[in-house]
Amino acid sequence: MSELEPKRSDAIEKAAAQSVPASGQEASPFLKQLKGFWVTFSTMFKKPLVIEYPEVKPETQPRFHGRHQLNRYEDGLEKCIGCELCAWACPADAIYVEGENNSERNQISPGERHAKVYQINYLRCIFCGLCIEACPTRALTMTNEYEIADDKREKLIWEKEDLLAPLRQGMLMPPHPMYPGADHHSYYRGEIKEAHPSQNQNSQVNK
Ligand code: SF4
Ligand code: SF4
Repeated sequence: MSELEPKRSDAIEKAAAQSVPASGQEASPFLKQLKGFWVTFSTMFKKPLVIEYPEVKPETQPRFHGRHQLNRYEDGLEKCIGCELCAWACPADAIYVEGENNSERNQISPGERHAKVYQINYLRCIFCGLCIEACPTRALTMTNEYEIADDKREKLIWEKEDLLAPLRQGMLMPPHPMYPGADHHSYYRGEIKEAHPSQNQNSQVNK
């Protein structure tokens, strides 16, 4: 057994014996304390970093990964085409998408398909951003909002309604037809700037 014990070489023994301060003298206890208190003293004059959250909300960096958003085109149609690429890219299996065909009476997004069901499970999401990299239409992006805590597990599974961007000026609530004379390529190229009066399906129905 003794053969297995590590042996201290003479060189190590010698170095250990010589490990005294270079001056040959230990610093006095008072100086040691002064050195320690210097850290406290110098910090007293620095600007405090404490933020009175939640009354004061700290600003995030512009590219902070907060909760997701499903975006719309300028006429209100949804950018999501229900392709599920975001779900496949997600390493945490946090996204669930069910696609559905668009129809003449139910045009939700330009082109063939839209997301009938879209869920993000924030109990799983690690905010890595791989899903937004995978999205071919920039339908899915991340906002700077970080206040998503809740008191029930089921409330942390966000549905499409929770994730969809609100309607802005010039947008119409889908379903409605695509912009007259436009196809999905026109939308992808950013040629649609606002809704056309003829896209208002409700007004067409009421006529
Ligand atoms: S941010 Fe990452 S973990 Fe969260 S849904 Fe997207 S891919 Fe999944
Ligand atoms: S968010 Fe993007 S990647 Fe995900 S289903 Fe919609 S279009 Fe496809």
